[in-house]
Amino acid sequence: MDSRPTKLDYYTDMGTLSSESTVVSFLKGDDGRSALILESTIFHPQGGGQPADTGFITVGDREAKFAVEDVRSRDGIVYHYGNVENLAGDGVVEFETGKEVRLHVDESRRKLNSRLHSAGHLLDICMKNVGLRLEPGKGYHFPDGPFVEYKGIIPPSEISNKQKELETEANALISKGGEVCVAILPYDKALEQCGGFLPDYIHKESTPRIVKLGSSPGCPCGGTHVNNLSELISMKVSQIRTKKGVTKVSYTVG
Ligand SMILES: [Zn+2]
Repeated sequence: MDSRPTKLDYYTDMGTLSSESTVVSFLKGDDGRSALILESTIFHPQGGGQPADTGFITVGDREAKFAVEDVRSRDGIVYHYGNVENLAGDGVVEFETGKEVRLHVDESRRKLNSRLHSAGHLLDICMKNVGLRLEPGKGYHFPDGPFVEYKGIIPPSEISNKQKELETEANALISKGGEVCVAILPYDKALEQCGGFLPDYIHKESTPRIVKLGSSPGCPCGGTHVNNLSELISMKVSQIRTKKGVTKVSYTVG
């Protein structure tokens, strides 16, 4: 099998929801599910706290349709998991190597995922703005209870006030609006955009992808985002819990 990494079209163009690509391979799994590997994709695989996109893939103008139920990335190769819904008249699977295909990403799911992911980054900025200098750890930007975990704790007597302050700050920034920029940058430029700090896992020879919300310092990220903070509409900081040196901040978007 061709082991070249899949080109990630959503990396540079997050707004495109339909595109064209070519089949690299079509795999039939033991569980009855199939996996389609393409030269390039606009489908966001699950990762970085963001769920996978869903949608469908068609062959040219033919009836055959591959419903994409899940998307995962392994060693740089993106696997679109799902099922062929309409076989050709003679029951043949049309997704052979080299076939030109059209990709269609489900818009409402992508939009919600992007809003929840951008809101997680906005929360990081608000934490700093209200004087909580805790380092962000795990982010979970799924619709069923999104949260960000921070290393360190907030004293119990301050939690209630900080929760209100965070929410007020987030909604003030959303009302003000601000462009969300995503760019793949040389290390030095990325460092500058991130306020002089990049995590250790970003190697000096690499060209990290940086997301920057308004005028706040950016950070490395592989996800999809809104174009402007105003698209978040509103944000609620629903709960703050501290446990074993970790502060978990739960949120929702309006
Ligand atoms: Zn991110």
